[in-house]
Amino acid sequence: METQQMPKEMPPQHQDQQPGIEQQMNPRPIYDDEQPGYGRLKDKVAIITGGDSGIGRAVAIAYAKEGAEIVIVYLNEHQDAEETKKACAKYGKQALLLPLDVSKEENCKRIVDETMNSFGKIDIVINNAAIQFKHTSVEDIPSEEWEQTFRTNIFAQFYLTKYAMPHLKEGSSIINTASVNAYKGNQELMDYSATKGAIVAFTRSVAQAVAKKGIRVNAVAPGPVWTPLIPASFPDEEVKEFGKDVPLGRAAQPVEIAPSYVFLAVNRESSYFTGQVLHPNGGSIVNA
Ligand code: NAD
Repeated sequence: METQQMPKEMPPQHQDQQPGIEQQMNPRPIYDDEQPGYGRLKDKVAIITGGDSGIGRAVAIAYAKEGAEIVIVYLNEHQDAEETKKACAKYGKQALLLPLDVSKEENCKRIVDETMNSFGKIDIVINNAAIQFKHTSVEDIPSEEWEQTFRTNIFAQFYLTKYAMPHLKEGSSIINTASVNAYKGNQELMDYSATKGAIVAFTRSVAQAVAKKGIRVNAVAPGPVWTPLIPASFPDEEVKEFGKDVPLGRAAQPVEIAPSYVFLAVNRESSYFTGQVLHPNGGSIVNA
């Protein structure tokens, strides 16, 4: 898809629930450019948390095109998940849908067990689910919310990595979703940004710990992306301005973020990358 066709400004809108619902967004995020795949992930099995919508949905579809079997984990957005399953089926893949709360350790174990039962192996783990709640003062962050944000965004990455690791083999990949906020900080998202900083350090550390096994661990740190997380996190007027402050002057569409996840999973292309972070962020300079 040509970048001239990407929307530059979004109409003001807000969703009261988190996770947000992709089907309620206007305009709908662009998650597929309908370009064919090249079989670069043929016979691989990928678990994608937060795979029902936004960046996770675009990654699921890109992986389906490349020939992977897909396991989509999400909290409760069944309609979005069904839509993603349908989009994967267009490329010949029957995605397994697992509506499970990843902030709970027993559910992350179950994700691994169900994947092994259905597909018999795991090659790629995409730790991508997250929540964020806006607060402008540190005193206003409820302590329970701080804990839930850490449980969902980083504890879950640890749990899933821990239970998946015994099944991963040489050539397997773990890809964690961080954020530009890990590098820049964000005064409205203090807890969220702290979890993203932890994800970067976790990625680098696990990468070193498993390098000798030939398992690679990397992260992607997107800038502003048009996904349900945005109207679910910010008020109308902020949604309207979302993404205008980066050098490219607009938010990304999920379809523009997915190629980073394909690159990091395809051994032939990224075999010398581990412990690294890719930055599809519209041109913000970060000290990566
Ligand atoms: P999204 O709302 O489409 O995805 C968030 C996903 O997290 C949802 O699919 C939801 O089901 C899942 N989720 C939330 N809590 C969960 C729980 N307890 N158990 C299971 N699943 C749960 O939004 P997105 O923007 O595509 O977010 C995907 C990732 O991208 C997140 O890690 C987010 O921090 C990151 N990110 C987004 C942006 C952006 O501007 N949209 C920028 C940088 C990083």
